[in-house]
Formats: sequence, C-alpha cells, structure tokens
Amino acid sequence: MPATRDDFVQAFAASGHQLWLVGGALRDRLLGHGGHDDDFATDALPDTVEELAAALGLPVITVGKKFGTIGVHLDGQWSEVTTFRGDSYSGGTRWPDVTFGTSIEEDLARRDFTINALAENAVTGEVLDLFGGREDLAAGVIRAVGAPAQRFREDPLRILRGLRFASQLDFEIETETLAGMAATVELLATLSQERVTTELDRMLQGRKPGRGLEQVRAIGALPFTLPELAPMPGCEQNSFHRFDVWGHTVATVDAIDPGGPEDVRVRRWTALLHDVGKPAVRHVKPNGEWGFYRHETTGETLAHELLERLRMARKDSVLICLLIRRHMDRPDPADRRSVRRFIAKAKGNWEHLLALKRADNASHTYDDDAYHDALWAACAEVARDDAEALLAESPLSGDDLVAIFGRPPGPWIKLVKERLSAAVLEGELAPGDRGGAERIARTVVGRA
Ligand code: ATP
Ligand code: MG
Repeated sequence: MPATRDDFVQAFAASGHQLWLVGGALRDRLLGHGGHDDDFATDALPDTVEELAAALGLPVITVGKKFGTIGVHLDGQWSEVTTFRGDSYSGGTRWPDVTFGTSIEEDLARRDFTINALAENAVTGEVLDLFGGREDLAAGVIRAVGAPAQRFREDPLRILRGLRFASQLDFEIETETLAGMAATVELLATLSQERVTTELDRMLQGRKPGRGLEQVRAIGALPFTLPELAPMPGCEQNSFHRFDVWGHTVATVDAIDPGGPEDVRVRRWTALLHDVGKPAVRHVKPNGEWGFYRHETTGETLAHELLERLRMARKDSVLICLLIRRHMDRPDPADRRSVRRFIAKAKGNWEHLLALKRADNASHTYDDDAYHDALWAACAEVARDDAEALLAESPLSGDDLVAIFGRPPGPWIKLVKERLSAAVLEGELAPGDRGGAERIARTVVGRA
C-alpha cells in the first residue's frame, strides 16, 4: 500500500513540524468549489520536506526547491509544500532566492488578500483566520491584507490578481482595496507582458468577467493593460444602444454563451474586442445619429495588433479576428444562399459567430431574439444538409481547365475556379458536376 495523505500529515506531526493547508485550495474548499490542488505551508525546510516524503516512498518534484517548494504526490494529485515565508529566518540556513519565516502568522501576513490568507491545520483541522478571511468569503469581498497601496507597491501583480479573483469568484472589491489599486495603477507598467496577459486571460474566463473589466476601467488600468480599449468609455452610440461602447462591450462579454471549456477563451476575447474599432471610425450620419461605418474592419486590424502584443496563441488570434471582421453579417434565414454564404465566410465557425451576434444584441434597446433563433435553425440545417456545397470546391481543377481550353496556365485559371466555387456555394452548380462546370467555364473564358 502506498503511503497516503494522512500518513504524510502524521509524519509531520510525529517529527514535531507543522503542516497547514493554505491559499487557493483552502479558499475554494471553503467556498464549496472543488478541483484545486492542495497547497501546504510548513515550518520544515525544503530538505526536511523532501526527506519526510522520501521516507514514506512518496514521489516528489524538486524544481521549485530553491524557492522553498517541494511537490509531493498525495492521494493521486500533486500537492505543493512550501516553507513559511518571512522577512527573516533564524535557522541559520542560507537559501539564495527566498527568505523563510518561522511562523504561520508571519507567512499569512505576507499573502495578498484576506480570502487567500486562511490556513487550516492539517493535523487538527483548526482554521487560523487572522484577517477576517472567512467573513470576507461569506460576504463575497476581495480585501487586501494590510495597507492596500503599500501591498500593491510591493508587488503590482496583486492588482491584477485582485481583479481576476473578482471575476472568477464574482466578488466585490472592498472600497479601500480598490482605492489602493487606483493609487498604484501606473506600476502595472513594470510587469512583464506575460504576467499581465495571464491574469487578463484568467479574468476573462471567470464566472463574471464584466465585474473584473468594470474595475479595470474604474481604477484607470485600461491604458496600462488594454490601451486599445481606453477610448471606449464615454464613446456614445446611437439610440439603439443603452450603453456607450464600453458599457456595451462589458455587457456583451457577460452575455456571450461561453460554450464548452475549449470555447470560452475565444468567445470572451471576441466579445471584448468586437467593437474595438468603433471609437476610431465614429462619425455623424446625415440623420444626425452616430455612425460606425466599417468598424468591423478597423476593429480586426486593432485586435490583431493587440493580440500580437499580448502574445495570444496564433490560432486563437486568427479566429478572434475573423469573428470580429464578420460580426456585422446579417444573412436572411429564409434564404438558403444567404445562409450558405454566411457559413462559408465564417469558415466553419458559425456557432462562435452566432454566439457573438446574439450577445451583441443583448444590450440593444430592441429585441432580436426571434431573428437569431431563426438564423441558428437555418445554419444548423444548412451545415447538416449542404456540407459538400459549403466546401465550395470547383468541380474542375487547373489541369482540367488547361486540357479543356487548350490554353497555357495563367491567372485566368484562378478566375475561372473562383467563379466555379462560388457557383457551388450558391447552389447554382451541384458539387462535382463537371459538365455544368464546363458550361459555366465557357461563358467566363469566352468573356476573358
Ligand atoms: P489559483 O491557483 O486559482 O490561481 P491561488 O490563490 O491558489 O489561486 P496561487 O498563485 O496558486 O493562487 O498562489 C497561492 C497562494 O499564494 C495565494 O492564495 C496567496 O495566498 C499567495 N500568493 C500568490 N501570489 C501572491 C502575491 N503576488 N502576493 C502575495 N501572496 C500571493
Ligand atoms: Mg493555486
């Protein structure tokens, strides 16, 4: 029988060491959200943790050792056991990269938010709550441990972590904590792009992303994190809209159906960026209303630059930009050709595109649900029944055309093939109908 988590806990007790469940694992368990790997804090030095685990035959990972962390495989999951942090360690051992502490109290005081600064004694089950973390968990509040601005100055990443937790947990940020974030916001410029991107991405994938986004704006963090979005707040729209461009964007992010776990990133980023082109193209129309002519094209360009800077995975970035470019398409659900064209232009991503269009509509003053229901049904039917036509493949290849017309290859081939693929997509020509394709080709080549 391999040693269990209980055996590991008992080994700490037997050797006179402390072991505390801390951080996200405890927070999420107290909230009733499972699924977080265990994080432990201990007074034992990393060498001792490693020895205790090894004596029980437990697998360990030591890559984090110089930062004080040993990974231990317990009851089927990897847990992290980290030596107390502090300002000083009196044990006389010198570690180059961290300073160890001597007490759990000191360790907890260095943590970022009260809900992350709880500890549960792994041996006795006693919960240590020095900063009112349990009350904040119950009330749904993100509150800095200690003086907020000072804690954010020590490590500005905490600002983004706080916004991210607000979105992930759907929690409120306590007033002084929010003020501390606003007072130190320009320090966000000192963080690496990678860390900023990670936090923004996690924030957007949370259960209430609009909450985090609204606070990003409120503390003045847009210019430091998503500068392309900074002109959105205050950019008013026409009477069909209840909100300015920013309010509409936040509402769209909250409204979009996140789809499955593999869809949520693309869908939320697309919702966030779909109108990024609006402030740049806004103009007054002859009827006196605001117009946003071709904002989807400008938006695609701006989104591309932004996503490159964030180093978003290329595959996601390409898809997000495509969906932005196409979000104003409005096919007629009763017209099969129009639906086919819509699906073809979305390059197989019509479900994402429809999710965006539906969410985009959610904050308009008029209700377009019936249209989107009809469009969804029409797309599902066309995607099922017209799969071959949607591939829009020319029934004749370049070689076929050279043979039929006895002409050397040249730009004319591309022209004819494009006409033939369009004819297949439009239903004018059945997929694979070579005879029909030749007839159409003759009319084109005759003219060419
Ligand atoms: P998740 O794993 O879901 O991101 P978490 O709270 O476990 O949430 P980690 O980054 O894994 O976050 O950090 C574990 C714990 O370490 C946190 O709960 C917090 O107590 C502490 N911590 C992490 N980063 C910081 C920081 N920048 N400043 C202060 N304490 C931090
Ligand atoms: Mg964690």
